[in-house]
Amino acid sequence: MNGDIRADRIAADIEAIAACSENGAGDGPESSARRGYSRPTFSAPWGAARDYVIAQAEAAGGEARIDAAGNVHIRHRSVGWEARAWLCGSHIDSVPSGGKYDGVMGVVIPLEVMRTAPSAPLETIVFAEEEGTTFGFGMVGSRLWAGVESAAQLEEILALTNRHGESVAEAGVAWGLDVDALRAAAAGSPPWTSRLDPSRYFGMIEVHAEQGLSLWTGSVPVAAVSRIDGRRQYAATVSGQANHAGSTGMVGRRDALAAAAELILAVERTGANLARELAYTVATVGSLTVEPGAANVIPGTVSLTIDARAQETAMLERVEVELRGAAAEISGRRGTPVAIACTEQIEPSPLSDKVADRLVAAAETLGVALPVVPSGALHDAAIISSHVPTAMLFVASQDGISHNPAEFSRIEDIVSAAKIVAAAISR
Ligand SMILES: [Zn+2]
Repeated sequence: MNGDIRADRIAADIEAIAACSENGAGDGPESSARRGYSRPTFSAPWGAARDYVIAQAEAAGGEARIDAAGNVHIRHRSVGWEARAWLCGSHIDSVPSGGKYDGVMGVVIPLEVMRTAPSAPLETIVFAEEEGTTFGFGMVGSRLWAGVESAAQLEEILALTNRHGESVAEAGVAWGLDVDALRAAAAGSPPWTSRLDPSRYFGMIEVHAEQGLSLWTGSVPVAAVSRIDGRRQYAATVSGQANHAGSTGMVGRRDALAAAAELILAVERTGANLARELAYTVATVGSLTVEPGAANVIPGTVSLTIDARAQETAMLERVEVELRGAAAEISGRRGTPVAIACTEQIEPSPLSDKVADRLVAAAETLGVALPVVPSGALHDAAIISSHVPTAMLFVASQDGISHNPAEFSRIEDIVSAAKIVAAAISR
């Protein structure tokens, strides 16, 4: 060991990365778009945050490599690239007007562990694009590195565009994304820089803010994560008839928004009812577009998103059956057809009991009792877990708030997680 895990260094890293933001210092008024921290993947602030992490790693004797997906890998020179290592990391991209801790915590912890234990078998990873808010699709960096299902899926991901109309392929090239290498990897046997090679790793540990209430309200600073919920997302379109809001009477209207309102409540009810059968089942409508969207026009078309999560695939299927049933009933009664298309399907990911047990045992040596909890949020760990034994550590989030500038975790809890990681990988 080169000394102890230091709270001041971790706090300085978090602040330095927070300063890399489209929103500047992120302290605008509540209503302002300049509030919070915005780091879209492959943007200049994202690159500045990435450069900061690399510079800090190099100053501590580390060496960085960029893989074909644009993810950063860091190892200390005394470990080298040939030795088997623990993979530990997360992401530095943020949702628009997000907080300081989401993802960032999971990057600065292995960085600090490397500073204090240079010879520990550790590879820090910074995944490119986790949140899904830059290109409308989550965990792009980990998916591209872990291996896409097919060459067609690779092309679909590379063609996704950001708000400037740039594709993943176009925006990523300046940051090391190598389209040719990814295509070669999708077609055959790639080098490790294009595709995750599980034989190089003992396992993976991702540390993340919980983004929920259970640890904070239970006064639990840190917990191990045993499984990650599956997720299904849908695009629903409610078709009614746009018409004059003044001269069209209330009888016989086909108001797409009124029908959508019923559908939204059905989504909420479905989540609440099924959560009584299987804890942590949730269903949410998070986005809504009304057309034509004018005060004096009866809405003609409403597009909305549905996001459902559960710990079991069978439960995700039940959510879908219930939603389709509700949609059919509403459209029949109101004369407003509802089309529901599944846009994403991620199976529940059981994480590695062995790695979770290792974290629990490491915590025990530090006198910390580590409960084991599930994760409702998706993380890069869910992608990596099908290839490498993976577990996570959650750090309590104040009042369960995340994806919000008010996001906060206590530095002493973050230090505690760092110590557990250090102890787990040195065992
Ligand atoms: Zn995150």
